[in-house]
Amino acid sequence: MNKGTLIRVGGLDIPPGRRMIVDLPVADLYTHTQLTMPVHVVNGRRAGPTLFVTGAVHGDELNGVEIIKRLLKLAALKRLRGCVLAVPIVNVFGFINRSRYLPDRRDLNRSFPGREKGSIAARLANLVATEIVAKADYGIDLHTGAIDRTNLPQIRGNLSDPEVVRLAEAFGSPVIIDSRLRDGSLREYAAENGVPMLVYESGEALRFDELSIRAGVRGIGRVMRALGMLPERKKKGNLIEPVRSDETTWVRAPTSGIIKTECILGERVTSGQRLATVSDPFGEMEVEVPASVSGLIIGRSTSPLAHEGDALFHIARFEDAKEAQTTVDEFQAAHSVDNAWG
Ligand SMILES: [Zn+2]
Repeated sequence: MNKGTLIRVGGLDIPPGRRMIVDLPVADLYTHTQLTMPVHVVNGRRAGPTLFVTGAVHGDELNGVEIIKRLLKLAALKRLRGCVLAVPIVNVFGFINRSRYLPDRRDLNRSFPGREKGSIAARLANLVATEIVAKADYGIDLHTGAIDRTNLPQIRGNLSDPEVVRLAEAFGSPVIIDSRLRDGSLREYAAENGVPMLVYESGEALRFDELSIRAGVRGIGRVMRALGMLPERKKKGNLIEPVRSDETTWVRAPTSGIIKTECILGERVTSGQRLATVSDPFGEMEVEVPASVSGLIIGRSTSPLAHEGDALFHIARFEDAKEAQTTVDEFQAAHSVDNAWG
């Protein structure tokens, strides 16, 4: 078997068969405190592709941090082929402040490729681009919904790239969403540089969601097996065959008020079905919120308060919504967590 190769991160050489945490310096805090973006490099003894896994690009999205922590503890990594570049907290500034953004209010995921002498967001993006993406063959970026928004476990990717489709199916989250590349996103940058990348979206900002975390760890393991980085399992687990959606729609609050939700994540709904009611605090005014299309609820607001126009439910359309519902049910059973999604 081919021997692995040396990888250089942050000016340090990590030989095959070694793991190392490399602290990449980012702009210091104005307290004179030094700040770094830690990267855990796991360089396998044997040759194979390099995969980066990133969390907290949005500093308040925490599931990915726990996913990477558990990934790094997998015993199978002893038999790794190739290299894993794991960055649990990319947006270290936002993470400290429990904020999606950087201190200059910029969104890191709109700041790629960045510039060495640009804004703080541009500098951080440039660091990720040059030290992580440039050294990788594949990538997985871990996200959650925003504050007060929760997502059904889903993979988003550019499904016109067959390699992205192959890895998205291997990941085994119930739903795959074909999503266009966003200007300045890590995913767009990776794609432009020939690095197929998946985005895993699951759960809610500032919270841990056990099902999302378990499914994330297993999903990355499956992608690594599909890439030949980890040995195949003798006993095959019951793999979910994900369903694919090319079109998603947000249902918005028709008026401001207090929301009473009547559907859950992963539920199949039909056009016109009542998803919630909005009422005033006295219960005198009550307005129904109907589904605008038929499909599956893949994201929803978790706040009981809404202004007119606030996004309440994210519905994905499927050729066969019944099949999609079955897939979600199977997925939930396979990951058996008591507190699934309310
Ligand atoms: Zn995000």
